[in-house]
Amino acid sequence: QAKANGKARYEVFNSAMYAATLQHVEIETHLRHAILNNELEIHYQPIVSLQPERGLEGFEVLLRWRHPQKGLVPAGEFIPIAEETGLINAIGEWALQEACMQFSHWQQLWPDFAKLYLSVNISGRQLREPSLLQTLDRMLEETHIPVRCLRFEITESSLIKNTAIATQLLERMQIRGIQVSLDDFGTGFSSLSYLHQFPINTIKIDRSFVNVMLHGEKERSIIQSIVALAKTLGLATIAEGIETRQQLEALQSLGCESGQGFFFARPMPPAQLEAFLTQTCQQCPVRHICFTDCH
Ligand code: C2E
Ligand code: MG
Ligand code: MG
Ligand code: MG
Repeated sequence: QAKANGKARYEVFNSAMYAATLQHVEIETHLRHAILNNELEIHYQPIVSLQPERGLEGFEVLLRWRHPQKGLVPAGEFIPIAEETGLINAIGEWALQEACMQFSHWQQLWPDFAKLYLSVNISGRQLREPSLLQTLDRMLEETHIPVRCLRFEITESSLIKNTAIATQLLERMQIRGIQVSLDDFGTGFSSLSYLHQFPINTIKIDRSFVNVMLHGEKERSIIQSIVALAKTLGLATIAEGIETRQQLEALQSLGCESGQGFFFARPMPPAQLEAFLTQTCQQCPVRHICFTDCH
């Protein structure tokens, strides 16, 4: 009886694993064609100042895959496979170029874009790719984007896994005047004692903390500690995944400077973002956007 149960369980486990592997291989094969078939696109999520009068600060660049059968696939479902297979290098280069070209176009359309920035995610695998800096320099030259309009996001865990090479790369970014944010902060279990050694400018507080911050005093104090730590180290703070006004107000009272999340805006394709931004508000210092209730 026990043996029969064991065997049944084994088979269930096995077929689930088989299905997962099959799906993985399938995604990989299709992902290889996705760039050539123009199936990848970029969505832009506004990052805003939590001081209401200051408004829009920039956009995070988020990849999407317009799959012929599955529809719009979010980054979380295919970026890990792109990283494992190394496809992320080609995809990341494409995303950087596409976003810079789009931003340069917007800058010509709206001079106020000179005050905004693009924040591009860089995976651990890309950090180890020696051509990343050359690609970056070529892109800046071709698109004439001021370096202050470009930022990179590196996750805390990929920084820990690639400390030496990442530190070197981050130093070269700083020399160029490109700011770097530490993404998903709080999930990588880094030792806080050496955070000050990394040449970074901003900490992005992971969504999982924002999610639970109103559950109790302990949860709230995690964010409070991160903000205090960032202040001590002279780093800016961006809270990820703000979904409610209550979260926004709590983050404001804790002194968190900036944020992004569905409460403000979802990631959007370029045309939708343009429509969103042209809801003009006369009172706002940053034209084309208004997150206050003044209009
Ligand atoms: P991330 O850099 O931490 O990006 C934030 C993720 O949170 C995005 O998921 C975004 O859509 C989602 N998000 C934003 N606001 C909210 C909210 O209020 N509620 C909830 N529930 N989610 C929110 P997405 O687009 O699926 O991206 C997942 C991850 O994939 C990113 O996490 C980033 O690590 C990676 N990624 C995305 N685009 C790229 C890229 O171009 N290159 C690389 N290397 N990685 C990328
Ligand atoms: Mg990010
Ligand atoms: Mg993040
Ligand atoms: Mg994340």
